[in-house]
Amino acid sequence: MDMRTTNLPYYQAAGQEIALFEHAWCKRLPVLIKGPTGVGKTRFVAYMAARLGLPLFTVACHDDLTAADLVGRHLIQDGQTVWSDGPLTRAVREGGICYLDEVVEARKDTTVVIHPLADHRRTLPIDRTGELLHAPDSFMLVVSYNPGYQNFLKGLKPSTRQRFVSLRFDFPDAEREEAILIGETGCDPMLARRLVALGNSMRSLNNVDLEEAASTRLLVYAAILIGDGMDPIEACRAALAESLTDDVEVSAALLELVTATFG
Ligand code: ADP
Repeated sequence: MDMRTTNLPYYQAAGQEIALFEHAWCKRLPVLIKGPTGVGKTRFVAYMAARLGLPLFTVACHDDLTAADLVGRHLIQDGQTVWSDGPLTRAVREGGICYLDEVVEARKDTTVVIHPLADHRRTLPIDRTGELLHAPDSFMLVVSYNPGYQNFLKGLKPSTRQRFVSLRFDFPDAEREEAILIGETGCDPMLARRLVALGNSMRSLNNVDLEEAASTRLLVYAAILIGDGMDPIEACRAALAESLTDDVEVSAALLELVTATFG
């Protein structure tokens, strides 16, 4: 039996993304995944790393993340200065996937190290040690971002985005989202159907002001709480209505949809 296929993380595909990713890996092209939060971008990358049998180095980017956080830095250990590789450097040295989640959040100096790795050069210059690393064939750079809540200034620069092949992720259609809830939580199909219908009614509320629509992740949370014996309305209050907004009125409007579904 092939252990690589038996230990795969659960991933419900939307279309051709698995084939595209495999082609990109074979041909050493970097991949950009864009889409709202909680719709399976990170799970997809974990699944692909396991499927291809590659180590995965994940970096959750934030607005203080610098090139040194990716590449590495000198540390003082027992009075000695020693070099410590960052996750990007480790992935380049050892081979595997380096996944930069929410890459637009990172400081602008990170583009200096991303660009030469993301084009035909496939190199990583380490200024502080004077090294120039050449990425092995198994190295792959994958980045993700959420175009929804980025402001104009934070969008990806064309010079960066045009180094990647791109995949768009979106909310799954009802049938696929039901399959995800069942596959992920083992909940019964009736509950999955109701939660997905609830999620879609929340997503289509256009008179309430939500920063982001209900994600598949939150529907998974609701299914988990209900599966553990919680009252469905209380579970959806906690997993959906209160997680989506701090506005008391908006939250009450969301809860009305919950009671219409489960009341
Ligand atoms: P993102 O990286 O897009 O923010 P994640 O990949 O972390 O989102 O997905 C959030 C959760 O939603 C996962 O932990 C999983 O439970 C569920 N999920 C979403 N899409 C899928 C999918 N296609 N297959 C399996 N699980 C999924």
